[in-house]
Amino acid sequence: MDFSVPSLDDLLGTFVPIAVYWIYSGIYVMLGDLTQYRLHTKAEEDKRNVVSKRSVVKGVLVQQAFQISVSLLLFTAVSGREASAGVPPPQQPSSLTVILLQFMVAMVVMDTWQYFMHRFMHVNKFLYRHVHSKHHTLVVPYAFGALYNHPLEGLILDTVGGALSFLVSGMTPRTAIFFFSFATMKTVDDHCGLWLPGNIFHLLFNNNSAYHDIHHQLYGTKYNFSQPFFITWDKILGTHMPYTLEKREEGGFEARPTPALKKIN
Ligand SMILES: [Zn+2]
Ligand SMILES: [Zn+2]
Repeated sequence: MDFSVPSLDDLLGTFVPIAVYWIYSGIYVMLGDLTQYRLHTKAEEDKRNVVSKRSVVKGVLVQQAFQISVSLLLFTAVSGREASAGVPPPQQPSSLTVILLQFMVAMVVMDTWQYFMHRFMHVNKFLYRHVHSKHHTLVVPYAFGALYNHPLEGLILDTVGGALSFLVSGMTPRTAIFFFSFATMKTVDDHCGLWLPGNIFHLLFNNNSAYHDIHHQLYGTKYNFSQPFFITWDKILGTHMPYTLEKREEGGFEARPTPALKKIN
């Protein structure tokens, strides 16, 4: 296989999403406790999350080191293959519609890959115990814990999912910088543990911090597998758990599963 020297876009596509991860989750840290918007109380977070914040930061950094290596390898392999086949470097489409279509295709591909792989990691006891359970040690999610994963999970779900979205959509490495940054922000937001008024992601997506919070609860681990964008696969395959957001007396909200409608008669 031929590898090319990484281009500026290859490097940006690899490193910008990582910077976005820490900047966006850093903003959530700076916002403080925001008791009136939390989905779980601070006391619940301290009691139920058995792993320290320090270990979470370390875990995410390890996971991102893997992500950098694989991502650079993939980008340079794709451009290396094109160069040796005499294919000119991809041109950035001038039409915004084309770029938005590529974004949509990439979102659908990523969602499809992640739904089935994520669900498989719950169904397969070995994979759950040794790989995916690491992500679920954060029963009360918070922003910078979004990528607290076993490196193998990061590789299978995020990196391979990202590579497939990139290849199938036909987007250029330049568009990929924006797509991967967007997907990273979405994942961080889904784990922020807050229901903030005016959150643009909550307005655009039904798959959001409350939806994913249900999945992180013990009763929800067999539901709401869909991530990171839509809830379509959960709806189609019957793993969708509806919920309502109720105000807590002590402040904040609770995502409560909606009880099945009682049968009349
Ligand atoms: Zn899970
Ligand atoms: Zn999660």
